[in-house]
This record gives sequence, C-alpha cells and structure tokens, in this order.
Amino acid sequence: MGAGERVVVIGAGVSGLTTAIVLAEAGVAVHVIAEELPGATSLAAGAMWGPYLVEPKHMVDEWSECSLEVFRELADDPASGVRLASGIEASRHADQPPDWATSLPDFIPCSTAGLPAGFASGYRFTVPLVDMPVYLDYLQRRLHDADGTFEQRWLGSLDDVGPASAVINCTGLGARTLVPDLDLRPIRGQHVVVSNPGLTEFFSEDTGASQDLLCIYPHGDTVVLGGTAIDGDGSLGLDERAASAILARCVEVEPRLAEARVIAHRIGARPTRGRVRVEADRRSDGTLVVHNYGHGGAGVTLSWGCAAMVRGLLTDR
Ligand SMILES: Cc1cc2nc3c(=O)[nH]c(=O)nc-3n(C[C@H](O)[C@H](O)[C@H](O)COP(=O)(O)OP(=O)(O)OC[C@H]3O[C@@H](n4cnc5c(N)ncnc54)[C@H](O)[C@@H]3O)c2cc1C
Repeated sequence: MGAGERVVVIGAGVSGLTTAIVLAEAGVAVHVIAEELPGATSLAAGAMWGPYLVEPKHMVDEWSECSLEVFRELADDPASGVRLASGIEASRHADQPPDWATSLPDFIPCSTAGLPAGFASGYRFTVPLVDMPVYLDYLQRRLHDADGTFEQRWLGSLDDVGPASAVINCTGLGARTLVPDLDLRPIRGQHVVVSNPGLTEFFSEDTGASQDLLCIYPHGDTVVLGGTAIDGDGSLGLDERAASAILARCVEVEPRLAEARVIAHRIGARPTRGRVRVEADRRSDGTLVVHNYGHGGAGVTLSWGCAAMVRGLLTDR
C-alpha cells in the first residue's frame, strides 16, 4: 500500500481484528467498521487451537500452523489471554488421533487407565488455550497502539463503506447478506462458563458428527464448558436444557465441576462454508475487496494464517 492509502476492515471479531493488526503493524493505515465491537461469535468461542468444522484441509493446515507459531509467542504475555495448556482429547471408540494432533509437542497416547470411565482411546498434548474476552480486549488494544481506528456501524452493503483504497471483508456470518454469499450457514454452539474448582488441564471429547460436544477449558478463575453444534441453527437464545446437559456431561468426566457456580452462558453461530473464503475480488467501481470469512468452528485457530494471506493478496494486487 502507498502513503495516504487507507484500508477499511469490516468486522471486529477475531478475523477482522487480527487482519487489521497484521496490516497496521506493517505500516498500513487501517480503519475498522463493525456493528459489534468485538464480534459476538468470537466472544462465544472456547477457545482451543485445533481445526474443527472447517475446509479445505491443505489450506487449513497451513493457516493453523502459522497461527500456532503466533499463539506460542503470545502465551509469553499473560495480558494476551493466551496460554499453553496440557490436556487430553479422548474418544469413546478406538479412534486414531487426527494428524494435526500427532505433530504437537508432548503428544502421547493415553492408556485407558488414564482416561475417564467410558472412554476407549485418547491422547495428551500441549496446545494454546485462548480466553476470548481477554484476548479480544488485547487485540483491540494492540490495534489501537498500531494507530488503527474503530467505528461502530452496521453496513447494509459494501458500497456503504465510504472512501477506501481497499476493503477487507471479515464479517463472518454477516457476509451471507452483505456479499451476499448463500454458501454460508450457521452451526449453533453453546457454552456454560463456571467458577474454576482448581482445574488447569483441558479435556475434550472427539464426538465426531454429534450435536452434543464435551469440552472443558480452564481459564484462571473460570472454566468454559461445552458444548453443542447444531447445523443450520443461527438462533442465539439460551437453551436451558442444553446448558444442563453440558454441565452433566462435564461433571461426569470431571466430578470437581459438580460444585462449580454457573457464571454465564455464551452462545454463538459458527460461520460455516464449504470452504473458508480468503480471496481477492473487485467492487463495481474497481475497488479491491479481500474476503476473509467462513471459518466455521476454527476462526481462532486460523486467524493469524488467514490474516497473513490477506496481507499477501493486498501486496500482490
Ligand atoms: C460455541 C463456539 C465455540 C467455538 N470454539 C472455537 C475454538 O475452540 N477454536 C476456534 O478456533 N474457533 C472456535 N469457534 C469458531 C470461532 O469462534 C469463529 O470461527 C470465529 O469467531 C469467527 O470470527 P469472525 O471474526 O470471522 O466472525 P465474528 O466474530 O462473527 O465477527 C464478525 C464481525 O463482523 C461484523 N459484521 C458482520 N456483518 C456486518 C455488517 N453488515 N456491517 C457491519 N459489521 C458487520 C460483526 O459485527 C462482527 O464485528 C467457536 C465458535 C463457537 C460459536
């Protein structure tokens, strides 16, 4: 980008904020426009590094790897909300571990004796865990420090952006109407946030295609418990029965959670697409638009890799 040029990033979820930071720290003048500041879907995430409900695999692997490196560095700064945590992913079947897990540090298969009752296979590894409210605050501060500016506003169309040398579209599920892109669909997710009875390790179950997930992500004083994955459902209201079922599943695996106090419920709709869209396009007036949306259940995991690709597309224009 040349001097005096201004890039507008639409969206202030993890995708928009990360992309804006990568550009602003490279010297680009960046202005963020977003209805929600920060994005509600991103606030609802657990969040563990790991590809879930997202394609295409070869790009997902590359983006995830890039993000992993950045999260490892961020874990050195307690203010970032990122930490490296050890824990177990397990299955009630004799499953093979996914290839993304086997290359992680400390990866080691567990004996069934080391697993909760009812589990047949599992493995331990160390991975970044991200406390999303803290992390999204950190990203906003970091963008501000890099001279990025913010404007809270809903856009009915990409033409409503105003003057911009280029537009980066990080609107998540909002792209369904903004672009419009009918390939996007919601996959509803629900978490229960509870007080932490002293847990430091994560636990997650490989539940395959089930709607009922099981994850336990400790973040200091709180633990995020999950979850659900309801395809095609974009509703964001609290489902009390789902919350009770999440608590029951988690207590069965970790009995110390039985005494935990419920602090909050977090609900979001994963912006899911046949494949993540990181792609350059042009508006009718010739303005470059770079899309970065459709990250499904892995927007945190892919964030730094996708942001780096957006930067490359802007440079190549
Ligand atoms: C329950 C749950 C658990 C999850 N767990 C994980 C996990 O463990 N690990 C992981 O990697 N991922 C996880 N995810 C997925 C991850 O949260 C998403 O992929 C990610 O948050 C998407 O981020 P985003 O910035 O693209 O979208 P969003 O966070 O939705 O942000 C979109 C932004 O665009 C703005 N916007 C949209 N339309 C408009 C418009 N027309 N005008 C102005 N602004 C607009 C919004 O206001 C918002 O600021 C989880 C998701 C859920 C719901």
